[in-house]
Amino acid sequence: MTDLCKLTLVESVQHIKEKKCAALDLLNSYIKRIEKSDKLNCFNSKDLDTAIKKAKSIDEKKDFSKILVGAPIAVKDLFCTRDVKTTASSKMLENFIPTYESTVTQKLWNEDAILLGKLNCDEFAMGSSNETSFFGNVLNPYRLNNDNLVPGGSSGGCAAAVAANLTSATVGTDTGGSIRQPAAFTGIVGLKPTYGRCSRWGIVAFASSLDQAGPMTKDVKDAALILDVISGYDEKDSTSANKPKTSFLNSLKNNVKGLKVGIPKEYRVENMPEEVNSLWQEGIKILKEQGAIIKDISLAHTKYALPTYYIIAPAEASSNLARYDGVRYGFRAEGKDLTEMYENTRSKGFGNEVKRRIMIGTYVLSSGYYDAYYLKAQKVRNLIKTDFDESFKDVDVILTPTTPTAAFKFGEKSDDPIAMYLNDIFTVTANLAGLPAISFPIKFNKDGLPLSLQLIGKSFDEQTLLNTAYSIEKEVNFKSQVKDWWM
Ligand code: GLN
Repeated sequence: MTDLCKLTLVESVQHIKEKKCAALDLLNSYIKRIEKSDKLNCFNSKDLDTAIKKAKSIDEKKDFSKILVGAPIAVKDLFCTRDVKTTASSKMLENFIPTYESTVTQKLWNEDAILLGKLNCDEFAMGSSNETSFFGNVLNPYRLNNDNLVPGGSSGGCAAAVAANLTSATVGTDTGGSIRQPAAFTGIVGLKPTYGRCSRWGIVAFASSLDQAGPMTKDVKDAALILDVISGYDEKDSTSANKPKTSFLNSLKNNVKGLKVGIPKEYRVENMPEEVNSLWQEGIKILKEQGAIIKDISLAHTKYALPTYYIIAPAEASSNLARYDGVRYGFRAEGKDLTEMYENTRSKGFGNEVKRRIMIGTYVLSSGYYDAYYLKAQKVRNLIKTDFDESFKDVDVILTPTTPTAAFKFGEKSDDPIAMYLNDIFTVTANLAGLPAISFPIKFNKDGLPLSLQLIGKSFDEQTLLNTAYSIEKEVNFKSQVKDWWM
């Protein structure tokens, strides 16, 4: 019998619609697997009893018309879910139960998807390894000999859960790479849509001008399907874009003939391992063979992207996180007066990385330093965006590696914030410029770890990204090389 949880999202929904299996059968196959996967620590909380009730009611009603009917889906623990704990993997929100639902997750349930639970991530989505979570590390289902590896971050629980077939698909968030980098470390597909494509309403805020929700899936088709569901204008988010609704899935085609693909020379960074360079060359070769036109381009301000990001993101974070004061939300520590209560709450409620960001953020926003740091960073951000605008006059998409290395070991970078931040070198630029970008797996390296490429696209041109990734995916057939060894 088919192992139902190994089907892609598109296939699972098809199975239910064609009555090849009941919604409850599909759900049970995921539950069985989730029960055996505790060591991966993907879930902050599970909601399986409610999930079973929902699956039964779908089967009883026999209405299989919705486009995600019966799909078991766990989501990053950063999306507010009504009556279900939403922690942002922080002690600060350890017991926070929202009374409302984020727009993105509401759209999933409107299409009859079933919530499995909430997935672990870095605290308040700050990190690149899932090591800053209050609820502990997530393990990458891939290992290096006998060593455990990080799944990437901040959507590490999402990435590991999709890679290990614990959810049919998921939604994560990406502020500087948190969908794409963990997707790359675990061999799955991760898409950060254009800023404004998906509503931010009801998502725990990190850096509001950069945050964007997006699909993390088993393949490109699934990413198109999830994007179809979660995108769209939302009047509750003032930065939401009002674009005509199209179906990315129905328009998906694997034809790149005549497509102009830019290769930015600034992404050839120092000390990049040879395997990443040759991966990039392989991607170029495939696209050429499929009829695409390759062009060298320059994104001259790329070298300023990381420092710019690590000023703007903490600045916005320090402002967003000011609301956690022990009065309005979550955790409170006692103090002899109001000021001491604030101080105790924030020093005990936040972890070290979050505190580091708040300190950097308040520093760069403070009156004496605002012009020198924050304002300067905003200007450089503009230059980075202009580089892209200029390049997109000549090319349709840009191809780069997603990460400078494959997944690394626990602890390898956690004592060195700069080394950790360098992980985001290829991903932060798309957030700073508000552009869509997709990561998709190409092959395994000699140690058996996934390596992935990234495509960056024009504003609101997710379709070209999906089509191009789909075309390469068909050629490399990564999925056929995945072994189900982790159980
Ligand atoms: N790793 C980056 C950071 O720590 C990006 C995080 C994210 O995209 N949420 O800020």
